[in-house]
Amino acid sequence: MKELLAKPVMFISNDELSALCIYLNDEYRKGCPLVSDNEFDDIYLAELKFRQPNHPLLTHPQPENFGVESTQVDVSDRIKHAIPMLSTNKAYSVDEVSNFVARCEAAAIEAGVEPSSLTYRLSAKLDGIAGKLLNSGTLLVTRGDGVVGNNISHLLENGLVIMGDGSKDSVGEIVMEQAYFDANLADKFAHPRNVVAGIAASRNINEFALKALKDGAVRLVIYRDMPVKTVDKETLIQHIDLFSEKFKEYTQYPTDGLVIEITDEATKAVLGSTSHHNNWMLAKKNHGETAIVEVKEVRYQVGRTGRITPVVEFASVFLSGCSIERATGHHVRNILANKIAIGAKIEIVRSGEVVPSCLRVVSVSDNEPVDPISCPCCGHKVEWVESNSGELPLFKECQNPNCSAQAVTTIMYHFKTLKADLFGEKTVEKLVDGGHVKIEDIYHLTIDEIQKCGLGAGQAANLISEIERIKSSEIADNLILASLGIHKLGRGQASKMLEHHTIADIASNGITAKELIKIAGFGKLISISISDSINEQLLRLNFLIGQFSKIVDTKSSVPIDTNGVLSGLNVVFTGAMESGSRDEMKARAKQLGANVQSSVNGKTNYLICGNKVGAKKIQEAEAKGAKMISEHEYLIMINK
Ligand SMILES: [Zn+2]
Repeated sequence: MKELLAKPVMFISNDELSALCIYLNDEYRKGCPLVSDNEFDDIYLAELKFRQPNHPLLTHPQPENFGVESTQVDVSDRIKHAIPMLSTNKAYSVDEVSNFVARCEAAAIEAGVEPSSLTYRLSAKLDGIAGKLLNSGTLLVTRGDGVVGNNISHLLENGLVIMGDGSKDSVGEIVMEQAYFDANLADKFAHPRNVVAGIAASRNINEFALKALKDGAVRLVIYRDMPVKTVDKETLIQHIDLFSEKFKEYTQYPTDGLVIEITDEATKAVLGSTSHHNNWMLAKKNHGETAIVEVKEVRYQVGRTGRITPVVEFASVFLSGCSIERATGHHVRNILANKIAIGAKIEIVRSGEVVPSCLRVVSVSDNEPVDPISCPCCGHKVEWVESNSGELPLFKECQNPNCSAQAVTTIMYHFKTLKADLFGEKTVEKLVDGGHVKIEDIYHLTIDEIQKCGLGAGQAANLISEIERIKSSEIADNLILASLGIHKLGRGQASKMLEHHTIADIASNGITAKELIKIAGFGKLISISISDSINEQLLRLNFLIGQFSKIVDTKSSVPIDTNGVLSGLNVVFTGAMESGSRDEMKARAKQLGANVQSSVNGKTNYLICGNKVGAKKIQEAEAKGAKMISEHEYLIMINK
């Protein structure tokens, strides 16, 4: 099944796609996701939705967290919760926690409670599977999607240990003791949560998990009976990371942060709940893995808006299952103020699929940090961007309007013009942020390099296959020219140019403004700017011609009759045509030698009018001296 991930999704058959989506979903639920959430949603599920909108995966609600739903669980074991089990809102930064506190204080005022009197109850956020214990401790159900969970009461008979008072109805977390995992299972599973998720997902418990249960290492920790600490707002905000560390230290189970709950009942009532989560509770999750590295170099790159961003390079380290040798240094001010230079020791962090970043400076070196003076892309002088707050500016940017740093737009436009799929904004942004800023770079990417930009293996393989696909497909020469993204040189203008010059000729000799002006539709100023831009991009044009094996000469595929009845005439079509679509009629007119214009100007010979022509268009034609003829008259003219 995994091998399907290497195929572009459009080449996967309907049956394969259905099986693949179910498989990916199951692996995700077991805690071993093979692709990122975005990749699953945007590529595979989106394609499934397009082809099979009534697929059960799309029509049946899926649980939010992995761990419970598997094709192996008997559906008769699904149990509807009497009261929905809500999930907890998540936060990653102290700012988000401050916002939560602000919401609590606003609610307190509404409830008539003095905001400064509010306190917050902290507990460890256990990293396992949520469950509910019912019927005097005899029925255990997973949270599932919050509405329906799976009956996993068999765990109670197989050695699951209840931590707390299980005689009352209780909610808690099913977890594995960290020390037991480290000693017995660390070589077989990536994380204790994966073992627990596997247990909760299947009746066929594997031998290792069964032994762990029998050994008493799998526990249901009842939330109500967990150790807590109650603090005021200042203590919470100031020491949140310290509390997180302390709870981790004193908890024998894996944790991934803190749960913060407002204690005041009246404030809780005002905050209320949505259908998914309680607004009075927040989970502050930990950062990803960190490492301390020595800076080898600080490089600057320029983003699509012209913003200059520092990239800090260091010897390769292994972080969250990936080898990392560079991290973002955030902004120029950060580099200068914190003296991040060669030899400095910094702590880097990688959370989820986010690009690794510098967390803090551990020790500075004797070297001076590099202050970027010119754009790494075009060499133009870079300037500080004034901040609105009146504080010291953080960013520098290249303000050269012709800087090719608008890389994301350029690359997206290029592939869109060549009718390649998959090069959406999010994807291209990641590639550009990973240092692949030129169109040529994208053609040279390897799977490994794409993954280092934070994209999944399947997505990487899909991107490469898509490039291979367009490279071996027939591609019109005007599209290649238009894909350069030159101002005012779209597909239409490009094909006009190619009626007079071959693409090979342009690529080897360039083109002058004089040559362009001779072509109908190219004004003087436009000709100068287009010829300048083409001549600047000759290397790229040659590179592209070398990439594509089947370039179609649009001029020869649509032969133009230079002695045709419309030869030398400028025509404009307007209104709804009856004998064919507007595009078909334009194409036919071109074949007959006409120069088809998009709007009436002083050179227009004929305005060919279909039905419902606006009064403005008619006035315009009269003013410019163009002759108006009906579609019928036009057909007589060309069929003479
Ligand atoms: Zn620049």
